[in-house]
Amino acid sequence: MSTYYIQTYGCAMNYSDTERMEAYLQALGFTKKEEPKGADLVIFNTCSIRQKAEDRVYGQLRVMGEYKKTHPNMLVTVTGCMVRKSSSRYSPERDKLFSTMRELDIALRIEELPKLAALVREINPETQIPEIPEESLESYFQIDPTHSSHQSNAQAFVAISNGCDKFCTYCIVPYSRGREKSRKLEEILNEVENLVKNGCQEVTLIGQTVNSYGLSTYDKEEKRFAHLEKEPFVHLLEELDKFSEKGLQRVRFTSPHPKDMSDQLIEAMATLKTHLPYLHLPVQSGDNRTLRRMNRTYTIEQYKEIISKLREKIPGIAISTDIIVGFCGETEEEFENTLKFFEEMQFEHAFISQYSQRTGTTAARFMKDDISNSVKKTRWHKLNDLLRKNSLSAHQKFQDKVVNVMVESQNGEDCLGRSEHYKTVQFKSGRDVLGKIVPVKITDPREWILIGELA
Ligand code: SAM
Ligand code: SF4
Repeated sequence: MSTYYIQTYGCAMNYSDTERMEAYLQALGFTKKEEPKGADLVIFNTCSIRQKAEDRVYGQLRVMGEYKKTHPNMLVTVTGCMVRKSSSRYSPERDKLFSTMRELDIALRIEELPKLAALVREINPETQIPEIPEESLESYFQIDPTHSSHQSNAQAFVAISNGCDKFCTYCIVPYSRGREKSRKLEEILNEVENLVKNGCQEVTLIGQTVNSYGLSTYDKEEKRFAHLEKEPFVHLLEELDKFSEKGLQRVRFTSPHPKDMSDQLIEAMATLKTHLPYLHLPVQSGDNRTLRRMNRTYTIEQYKEIISKLREKIPGIAISTDIIVGFCGETEEEFENTLKFFEEMQFEHAFISQYSQRTGTTAARFMKDDISNSVKKTRWHKLNDLLRKNSLSAHQKFQDKVVNVMVESQNGEDCLGRSEHYKTVQFKSGRDVLGKIVPVKITDPREWILIGELA
């Protein structure tokens, strides 16, 4: 029997795609291997958000070149955001990655996952893999994932849309993943129902702009959600909330876009049983001029209003964000505004990135990547110092408090999990608590972690 190994890079969406790929490969008769050496099919599920992410894949491919010397039948596949055209090394029209990746055998657009079997046969016609007709799947979402990226059955990522229509000027996603398309409501509900039957207590809904579910140009043109009274995303959250009777306790979602943070959605977050006091809401910059150049389509004032509504309706809600420093033309004053805004909003966590130019984006075509690497680095450190301060003071509020922790990993007595506010909590337990939600008293709140003991 043939074996596969998948290496995943990037966001939760890629991890969810990997689960779909695993289910598909297992249906084809492949078995999983824990390391690439000796595997028949090695797949790199890639991210192209920043150059660094791509460079890592190039490095790994060189290693695969070495492995191929002792295992010449190994097929190396690249999928995910780096690929534009599904093709094999023998296809008449090939993805441009083949010109820079000597070790590559197959390039696969993730949405065309059912083509993988045909591409494998294109290279090796003798490969014994069953036929799964491509046209039997309307979309790759219909492949039921294996949900293996978490240590227990208690948690799962559920993809609800793919692609993006927002076209932020710095971002490659609308080109790599294509235009936004939402998954059918019934399909999502069926998937979650099955998960809950198998013991799932926490679901994280994922999409590039998860809260624009059902609102994309495609969804509107096709009137796919026109029959719903409420906004499609709010309707979905309400439907999922009904599973709380069957055991679902927590629903998270990532990443929402500020433009689609409606009052209806804030109200739902404040009232639904499965919702938690945490939101990751990427702002990208604290300066209106930068936001305009980024094509973020909201102002700092509008963002502030959303946060104050959230804080009013959900007291104690923890807010985290994404920030890019050193975007094209970012002046010292613009960056200072981001620092001030960060302080004012009291973000408790943030993914701070230094701008990395991506070929094909509007910024790469029409703007100058004119902030030097050393300035980008300095700005990153300044913001990160502030983040450490914010994070520590947010954590100190939990001193001696009891929080409910979903245990995500357990190694002997050592347990790690997430509280309602999405804080990482570390504690010890003499009994098996993996996949359970347990009360933990916080005894030592630190910068990035809360240390506690079972209450
Ligand atoms: N859709 C989400 C949103 O609108 O905020 C974010 C998804 S994006 C895949 C994840 C994060 O990567 C972004 O929020 C942004 O901070 C960062 N990012 C995207 N393109 C980047 C670039 N060219 N350079 C640096 N960071 C980038
Ligand atoms: Fe990229 Fe902007 Fe779409 Fe987020 S909203 S995926 S940053 S284009």
